[in-house]
Amino acid sequence: MHFALIDGKPTAAESGLKGLCPGCYQPVIAKCGTQRIHHWAHLKNKSCDNWWEPETEWHRSWKNNFPSTWQEIFLPDLRTGEKHIADVKTSNGLVIEFQHSHIDPQERTTREDFYQNMAWVVDGTRLKKDYPRLQKAIPSFRTIRTGIFRVEDPEECFPSAWLGSSVPVIFDFRGNESIGDPKDLRNSLYCLFPMRIGSDAIAVVLSRKAFIDAVINGKWTQWANNHMNNIRQVSKEWQEQMNRNQRQQDALNFARFTRAVRYQKGRRF
Ligand SMILES: [Zn+2]
Repeated sequence: MHFALIDGKPTAAESGLKGLCPGCYQPVIAKCGTQRIHHWAHLKNKSCDNWWEPETEWHRSWKNNFPSTWQEIFLPDLRTGEKHIADVKTSNGLVIEFQHSHIDPQERTTREDFYQNMAWVVDGTRLKKDYPRLQKAIPSFRTIRTGIFRVEDPEECFPSAWLGSSVPVIFDFRGNESIGDPKDLRNSLYCLFPMRIGSDAIAVVLSRKAFIDAVINGKWTQWANNHMNNIRQVSKEWQEQMNRNQRQQDALNFARFTRAVRYQKGRRF
């Protein structure tokens, strides 16, 4: 945790400090070693949120793009009586979860059902093979609208645990590095949308600044919905084209068939 309560005030961890967890009000202690980023830990050594993963520098720097009052928001789960800490929850109710560790699809779905209005930001640097795979696949992305791409074989391109997500998933392949070359592909974010055209996935490439600004201005949800409407439209047009092709093919097959029957009849009689 980034903040604990000291005299009721959210306070960042500093060596020697003790405070209370803003979720369960149990005592927490500042951990300010050299191995991990400075954070607060529950005295009993277990977070009150069983979804919580140890924070990395990557988590912390992403969260710090947003106001501190939006970070680490405790939300009650009425079904289970548990509490979960949203990494970021905006004043419009959008939740953003920053995920570094592996998560299995079942677990991912549970969290998506709980947060509903959310987006994932995934650390694409955890597995060394993930970025080279994307890099190799990018030339085959097909533009369907400016900045929106059809991705054939998404399994070859994005980590498979995220392909069935029901919300937008944004991959960050830069991690904590800073990369001077503005054209380096890792300076962009890759947003995978929860829709398909046929079996192709849909990805939108956007800048970090565009994403962060859209979240801060409250425009992200509108932006994502506009894209999803566009994708739906393209998908509908594609489906109609497929149906037309199928009808033409059927007509062609039927014509061939009747010609063949006439020919056979002609031979027989
Ligand atoms: Zn707690």
